[in-house]
Amino acid sequence: MNMKSFHIITFGCQMNEHDSERMTGILEEQGCTASSAVEHADMIILNTCSIREKAEQKFYSELGRLKKLKDERPDLKIAVAGCIAQQEGEKILSRAPYVDMVFGPSDLSRLPEMVEKKRSWSLPMINIAGDPEYHRKHIPTTRIDRLKAWVSIMYGCDNYCTYCVVPYLRGRERSRPPADIVGEVRELARQGFKEVTLLGQNVNSYGKGLEGDANFPALLSMINDVPDIERIRFVTSHPRDLSDGLITALRDLPKVCEFLHLPVQSGSDAILRAMNRRYTREEYLGKIRRLREAVPHITITTDIIVGFPGEQERDFEMTMDLLEEVQYDGIFAFKYSKRPGTAALKHDGHLPEAIKEKRLAQVLELQGEITSRNNGKLVNSVQEVLVDGMSKKGGTLSGRTRGNKAVNIDAPAKLIGSLVMVRITAAGMNSLTGQICE
Ligand code: SAM
Ligand code: SF4
Repeated sequence: MNMKSFHIITFGCQMNEHDSERMTGILEEQGCTASSAVEHADMIILNTCSIREKAEQKFYSELGRLKKLKDERPDLKIAVAGCIAQQEGEKILSRAPYVDMVFGPSDLSRLPEMVEKKRSWSLPMINIAGDPEYHRKHIPTTRIDRLKAWVSIMYGCDNYCTYCVVPYLRGRERSRPPADIVGEVRELARQGFKEVTLLGQNVNSYGKGLEGDANFPALLSMINDVPDIERIRFVTSHPRDLSDGLITALRDLPKVCEFLHLPVQSGSDAILRAMNRRYTREEYLGKIRRLREAVPHITITTDIIVGFPGEQERDFEMTMDLLEEVQYDGIFAFKYSKRPGTAALKHDGHLPEAIKEKRLAQVLELQGEITSRNNGKLVNSVQEVLVDGMSKKGGTLSGRTRGNKAVNIDAPAKLIGSLVMVRITAAGMNSLTGQICE
């Protein structure tokens, strides 16, 4: 059987996007080529997300669509990777018997072996045991972008927030050795990359289980020393583990951008307790104050869950009040979604969909106003922008400020890849407009 070309459909977060870059790198090393069209590929990989029910539904409807293709071309191989693969394992086959391979996020390094075996093996293959050495492996990677790269620094999560499936699907927390991470960043610099975003579910606890005294601020300092990398970002920080050392790193390391995504989830202590977040509203606000004292113009964004089981109107009001108090630059807001195996499933007080919808709309409306106001304050300021491509608006270039705000600039294409100083001339809710400073 010929398995020369492949197409990956990715659902979910940056971590999944990056896992797809790794699968592409692995398969290209095996002599396969990425096909931009699903119809022409010999193998289709669905890299799935299970964080909310909606993501799961999107995957199953895509899988349903692929059945038609498989009926037309029985030689086509269909693989399911990522979090739903890990969650469902063999069960995927009872729903979609035409699937050929199922493998979890920590098993993707076994792709060459699976592809080779599949050439002579007609039965479906399931690989969800997880490679215990995955975090120590060098994985070939073909990146989507030429300037900005994701770098995984750790896998898994030990936090067990009561709504979240991640610890069950991505396993216990494992940090990559600092030398491997710095080596990868050096190689990225050699290839011309200018910005790295360090990825982990809880980057602030980086280093746990490693020899010596590896920790996140020390890692940032090592990466800050890599020549030719201009900008460093990271996601995600758990508020409980946000240390003074990290605040100092944000203040003192010149390449670490003034940007922090610090998911709060709720403004109510009762709900934070029920979520097992292990910080209080006051502790969270104290950290925001210390951050802003140290880095006055820092951009801060967050995640909010509305309609968690037991969330009363007054709890929800506390979340609205927190948004007013913090004045975030942006938020990702979600309706609570029931996830298999999580503790919150068994909590009392699950709310009707209509209440969740209403609260979500309220949160988004309030935040829309705050974001627009915050962006408006940037008009006439001068911002350093990394020009990264053509703007979606057409005719202009696009880039990002150090605070991660999108900027459209009228400038020649030769500036793509450069850091330029830009005066902001207009601001909307989603982006800014600016002119290059002469
Ligand atoms: N590790 C990160 C953290 O703790 O902030 C983020 C992990 S998760 C991929 C991204 C966001 O999805 C979470 O911050 C949370 O707001 C949201 N989320 C996770 N589980 C959810 C659920 N069951 N229902 C709704 N939103 C959920
Ligand atoms: Fe999920 Fe909480 Fe871990 Fe984030 S910290 S991945 S929300 S369990």
